Amino acid sequence: MINSLRFKNIKLFLILLVHLFTYSCNEAPNTTNFNFNGDQAFKEIRELIKFSPRDAGTKNGHLAAYHIAEKLKKIGLKVIIDEFIDNTPVGSKKMINILGYLPGKSDKWIILGSHFDTMPGIPNFKGANDSGSSTGVLIEMARLLNNYELNHGLIFAFFDGEEGIANYIPGDGLHGSRRFAKQIYKSGNKNKYIAMILLDMIGDKDLTYTIPSNSDKYLKEILIESSKKLNIRNLIELLDDIVIIDDHVPFSNIGIPSIDIIDFKYGSTKDKNDYWHTEKDSLINISSNSLRITAELTLEMLNHLDVF
Ligand SMILES: [Zn+2]
Repeated sequence: MINSLRFKNIKLFLILLVHLFTYSCNEAPNTTNFNFNGDQAFKEIRELIKFSPRDAGTKNGHLAAYHIAEKLKKIGLKVIIDEFIDNTPVGSKKMINILGYLPGKSDKWIILGSHFDTMPGIPNFKGANDSGSSTGVLIEMARLLNNYELNHGLIFAFFDGEEGIANYIPGDGLHGSRRFAKQIYKSGNKNKYIAMILLDMIGDKDLTYTIPSNSDKYLKEILIESSKKLNIRNLIELLDDIVIIDDHVPFSNIGIPSIDIIDFKYGSTKDKNDYWHTEKDSLINISSNSLRITAELTLEMLNHLDVF
């Protein structure tokens, strides 16, 4: 009895071993198995918006930056707190980029970006979706991926000063992303950066990713492939004629393939964007499910880019 039990256990162990071997040799990991925790990402947003409004150059903006830095440090990432002064249409402001590094086996990097500042001048503005949603997803993604061995390194980049206050005239808005892209360009190592994936306004309960035409062609293909694998192709609209000026632009400008994964239909009906930059941009108008879907889509893209 004892012997036959032991035999059975060994047999079971061997079957399991063969199974694992076959799986690891033949298949790329199915990223839906990552178990991204949308509720935890939602909780991150709830914590972040305690600092709202978190406009660039304000005390709360700075507190939000340090809050993100502490989160990443606790998770175990190497963190750079990059404080800088930049000119805006209403004078110079101190801004802070937070960069969290998860190195991989190669010397290549992929940048995952989000801004964390809020649009100034909106009464009772929380910015749960713009820019809480992408910030929450990236913090939670850093927590998740910290446990994995990566082929290429990931930089979790949290940009200050994305919001322009004078309709994105040159030099207004995109302060943090312009700063980081310039640093990369000056380093002479820009070829080490394979891709830049920007997330923005991705927590809408009713998701429609409106991908602007000024996104990299190959990354758009990967996005579509990934969405098909996850059965969410219907959530993506490729905007052939519409350019969106967002934090991916400074990276495109220096030759790093970049994509803006944004839902610019954030509103009371499927096609409206009437919650954008209003007090309606609050926790009740985002969902943890959408955060999870966006994270899975991003993870699947990283899978295509051989990160896992
Ligand atoms: Zn905005």
